[in-house]
Amino acid sequence: MAKSNMDQDILKVLVTEDEIHARIRELGDQLYDRFHDKNPMFVGVLSGCFIFMADLVRAAQLKSEVEFIGLSSYKNATKSSGCVQITRDLQRDISGRDIIVVEDILDSGNTLAFLKDYMLAKGAKSITIVTLLDKPARREKAITADLSGFVVPDEFVVGYGLDYCQQYRNMLYIGVLKPEVYSK
Ligand code: 5GP
Ligand code: MG
Ligand code: MG
Repeated sequence: MAKSNMDQDILKVLVTEDEIHARIRELGDQLYDRFHDKNPMFVGVLSGCFIFMADLVRAAQLKSEVEFIGLSSYKNATKSSGCVQITRDLQRDISGRDIIVVEDILDSGNTLAFLKDYMLAKGAKSITIVTLLDKPARREKAITADLSGFVVPDEFVVGYGLDYCQQYRNMLYIGVLKPEVYSK
């Protein structure tokens, strides 16, 4: 593991850098099998998706487009507010398109339930949800990912795109913060 002064804030590692990369290669292969004869549009949910998205689109090696939407249901807290806001709207027409949604983590399901309805209303032909992490313990909406990287326990995780107060997104692995970090 490369040196990092973020490591000292981590209580435990849940998914290592090597495990993440191996799993993303598998997810990329599965996407290639499903979409190689289509021209899908990847839609990443900002900001948490940005590192996963970069690795996933390269692993899939599909003729495809890349687009982003900004959604927010968190206000620097570790729990969802349940109310989803669009902070940066889609810039392209998605009607008739096969959409691959790329999310960092599926938790309560509020964000992806909102996004699925929103994209169906905009005329998406199909919606495939890919999430790096799935935390089923706290689901409030009946929504499942079509592909997911890892199931994680009911703990607040950071790293590989996921933040706490906008920090730790650049950590190479997924981990749980020490409790004292939250009380600082
Ligand atoms: P949901 O709407 O499914 O509750 O949560 C969606 C968003 O909440 C995720 O895209 C992510 O940004 C944030 N989130 C949920 N659980 C966690 C977590 O354990 N760690 C971090 N850093 N963000 C989380
Ligand atoms: Mg997210
Ligand atoms: Mg966040």
